[in-house]
Amino acid sequence: MRAVTWHGKRDVRVDNVPDPKIKEPDDAIIRVTSSGICGSDLHLYEVLGPFLGEGDVLGHEPMGIVEETGPDVAHVKPGDRVVIPFNISCGRCHMCDMQLFAQCETTQVREEGMGAALFGYTKLYGQVPGAQAEYLRVPQAHFGPVKVPEGPPDERFVYLSDVLPTAWQAVDWADIPDGGTVTVLGLGPIGQMAARIARHLGHRVIAVDFVPERLELARRHGIEVVDADDADDVPDAIRQITGGRGTDSVIEAVGMEAHGSPGAKLAQTLTGLMPGNSAAPLMQRVGVDRLAALGTAIEAVRRGGTISIVGVYGGMTDPLPMLRMFDKGIALRMGQAHVKKWIDTLMPLVTDDADPLGVMDLATHRWPLEKAPRAYEMFQKKQDGAIKVLLQPGA
Ligand code: NAD
Ligand code: ZN
Ligand code: ZN
Repeated sequence: MRAVTWHGKRDVRVDNVPDPKIKEPDDAIIRVTSSGICGSDLHLYEVLGPFLGEGDVLGHEPMGIVEETGPDVAHVKPGDRVVIPFNISCGRCHMCDMQLFAQCETTQVREEGMGAALFGYTKLYGQVPGAQAEYLRVPQAHFGPVKVPEGPPDERFVYLSDVLPTAWQAVDWADIPDGGTVTVLGLGPIGQMAARIARHLGHRVIAVDFVPERLELARRHGIEVVDADDADDVPDAIRQITGGRGTDSVIEAVGMEAHGSPGAKLAQTLTGLMPGNSAAPLMQRVGVDRLAALGTAIEAVRRGGTISIVGVYGGMTDPLPMLRMFDKGIALRMGQAHVKKWIDTLMPLVTDDADPLGVMDLATHRWPLEKAPRAYEMFQKKQDGAIKVLLQPGA
């Protein structure tokens, strides 16, 4: 089959790879119809290279049609239309019982000291081949796949794999008080949806980015925006429009800022100097990222407020301004989305033909798999108005 594979920093290709096969009784194979490119893929594309092996298949935001199931898979059958959560969880362990699906103890990647396995996220997360491919092997398929109705286009449902549960959890964890205000940093797909969800729940939302099309899309959804390129000091701009205090909550939907950040430059230098995977331990020790967006969050949140970090951070030793955080009394929550926890909340919203979250305008590009190399470049550089890019094998 054809699949998007990693070959080096900013070098993804579409290659022939072996078709996936059922290996375990609780596996399923799906034929992928749509597969998102995510900001998390950009971290792999740019700074997390040392964790990848040449030929690793990328992608973790798929939906499609069940092709084949192992004998232990009962809730879906060949022909069903399904969305696949990006975390692979068993639904039966202690963590899954607590709905902490991103920490599933059955699929936990112990050798790397990481949580539940993920599709397409290198040896860091279990070396599970990814979903930007014609077919996908789904482990723990007795639990993971989510059935969706026939009829509406893929775009109505595909974001249940990651974007919507991630955005919903970001808002939930931001602990915005009734009548409160939240600042969303970053207006990629995750920030767009977090901002819309916070509005849908009745909060005042201020959002920050510097990409004109992204600011404009948020504005069209009734969100107040701050253009970070225009503001000398973003936290100050936010304080000025919130009576001097800052917002009750901040959602950090940027992450390591793979493109152009000081951390990315450092990682580039290290991986350039050191062959193969040998830079990985050093990158972990020094921290590949910096505090740009997180620093803004710490300054923009009011005293006693909450920061919900949804952007992915990869460094281990970034110095945090602990005095500032302690003195302001900031609550911090962060982590991977527990995708399945939010499906029952989200399903009525995506099956509603009125499209209350406006999911249908998020994708700017629906491209065949073969165009993945250009799609990655365009999404990373925020070119051609790209906001969400969907790869559609077979299209
Ligand atoms: P994206 O790259 O499209 O969006 C990031 C946005 O942040 C861009 O629009 C960029 O212009 C903006 N930005 C960069 N620096 C900024 C700054 N200092 N202030 C304000 N805006 C800034 O990516 P995405 O798909 O929306 O993903 C966003 C983040 O969420 C990524 O780090 C991704 O890895 C992470 N993510 C986390 C989870 C999870 O489970 N926690 C799931 C999916 C994605
Ligand atoms: Zn994703
Ligand atoms: Zn589990």
